[in-house]
Amino acid sequence: MRQVLSGIAAARGSALGRARVRLPHALDIDEARITAAEVDAERARFHAAVDSVRAEMRQLRERLHGALAHEIGEFLDLHALLLDDPELLSGIDELIRTGLYSADYALRLQRDRIAAVFEGMDDAYLRSRIDDIDQVIGRLHAALHSGRAELQGVSGEILVTDNVAPAELAQLQAQGVVGVVTAGGSPLSHSAILARSLHLPLVVGAAQALQKVNDGDVLAIDGSSGLVVLEPDAADLRAHHRRMAEARRERRQLNRLRREPARTLDGIDIKLWANAESRDDVTEAHALGAAGVGLYRTEFLFLGSSVLPDEEAQFRAYRDAVLAMTGRTVTIRTLDLGADKADKTGLALRDEPNPALGLRGVRLSLARQELLRTQLRAIARASGYGPVRVLVPMVSGGEELRAVRRMLDEVLHELRAQGLETAPQVPLGAMIEVPAAALALGSFVAQCDFLSIGTNDLVQYLLAADRTHEALGELYTPLHPAVLRVLRDVVRTGQRRGRPVTVCGEMAADPRLVPLLLALGLTELSLHPATLLEVRQAIRQCDLGRLRAAAPALLRARQRAAIEDWVAAWLPEAS
Ligand code: PEP
Ligand code: MG
Repeated sequence: MRQVLSGIAAARGSALGRARVRLPHALDIDEARITAAEVDAERARFHAAVDSVRAEMRQLRERLHGALAHEIGEFLDLHALLLDDPELLSGIDELIRTGLYSADYALRLQRDRIAAVFEGMDDAYLRSRIDDIDQVIGRLHAALHSGRAELQGVSGEILVTDNVAPAELAQLQAQGVVGVVTAGGSPLSHSAILARSLHLPLVVGAAQALQKVNDGDVLAIDGSSGLVVLEPDAADLRAHHRRMAEARRERRQLNRLRREPARTLDGIDIKLWANAESRDDVTEAHALGAAGVGLYRTEFLFLGSSVLPDEEAQFRAYRDAVLAMTGRTVTIRTLDLGADKADKTGLALRDEPNPALGLRGVRLSLARQELLRTQLRAIARASGYGPVRVLVPMVSGGEELRAVRRMLDEVLHELRAQGLETAPQVPLGAMIEVPAAALALGSFVAQCDFLSIGTNDLVQYLLAADRTHEALGELYTPLHPAVLRVLRDVVRTGQRRGRPVTVCGEMAADPRLVPLLLALGLTELSLHPATLLEVRQAIRQCDLGRLRAAAPALLRARQRAAIEDWVAAWLPEAS
């Protein structure tokens, strides 16, 4: 029967497909017993599930190809090993045989036993391996219920789950998944950012989804409105086809802007950089005429793999990005692991009481100097192939920047002494995303060659509102008078000292907010290629002179509603 579930729009695009429900990893299974007479059948059911997961993982491994094969293959190999672990399987078998537990409950008991052992480990890396056990257990649980595990034949399906990790998204898309609905999650999470970059429609926070949707139900999802229609009727299907046709038309129109400048109506050029996380992003950025890469997030080299990328592997990735941009500058951000960007390598601490305020970004890099040195060497070597800048995340003052600068100078010197080619200068910039850095910018701006405002984190820290916390809803917003004032002040300080200032948070990717950012004095934006053309179009509809004249009214706004009215008044239809 038709039902409409509402969630939060996280990555645009419509999708129509059959649902694949993946139950949460944390198994919430009530105790269930069987009789002695049922033991054999229950054990057979369990072993059939194991066989089915094994076969499906093998099939998936065979289907992987290209760049994903290496990265994702590693996960699968590890999961296959776990699945063959006699400890895991015989424990469950034993619980069914002698404890007279149902296979599901035995699965849960065994999972909890293993988790207790892992939790007691001192080594953060080993502790993090519980995620892999959970994934294998989750697959077994799914297989017990549908007779097949989650990864089989997903082409054309929409995944419905509690939450999705960034590393899983590319894997899902490679399998042909056309959209994702999550019961939890936030549009500002890294998974959401990645979904937008993959053009994979994503609805998050659809709280009812796991209760209402069953495997095989047909869903029509709209990643722009956050609506999920269960068993769509004829009108829904028509609406879906209309949205798809409209998206194709918009795309065709926008494609005409590929070679047009990001120039306002009164002739001012705005510098549009691209954010990139992969080689594909860089290629797309170049094709769309981005001025350069304004933020290359290097943590994505570290997130999906259990081994640290060495200098050579990093160098190759950075060099390839530089070469792909054919002479346009590539801004490479040093590692920003920690908080919501936990990794497989175990570098980021797992059990910090307050991870967003913990050892993340440049703090982690400075605590692990060899890691930073390796990364700076790789970046400096890439600078021999084209213009490169280094961007430092989570800076809270001048000391951190000075320490990075010192090491960068040493590394450049070292490489030249080894006879390697580097750029004569590698500019160093600070991410302005910690409120203290924004407020004390005057004291260290002279040390920065450029500034990049990370509004995703700046908003979270200014408003004390977790960027990934779904229950906070509208409390997390860049449309707060305090945020606007800080943006204006950072831009002013940068301009007074002749330092270019970019906004590289998600705020810059929202075409509706372009007039606001230009009114606050910004002349450079960096955003994911997925919305680069929309933002370019929005810039071309702006009159900078009129916007600057309207800035005082914007800064006088005392609450979100008044700022929203200001934004609405500058939408192209309204102006
Ligand atoms: C930001 O904080 O705005 C930013 C661009 O960095 P990230 O989203 O990677 O933390
Ligand atoms: Mg950040």
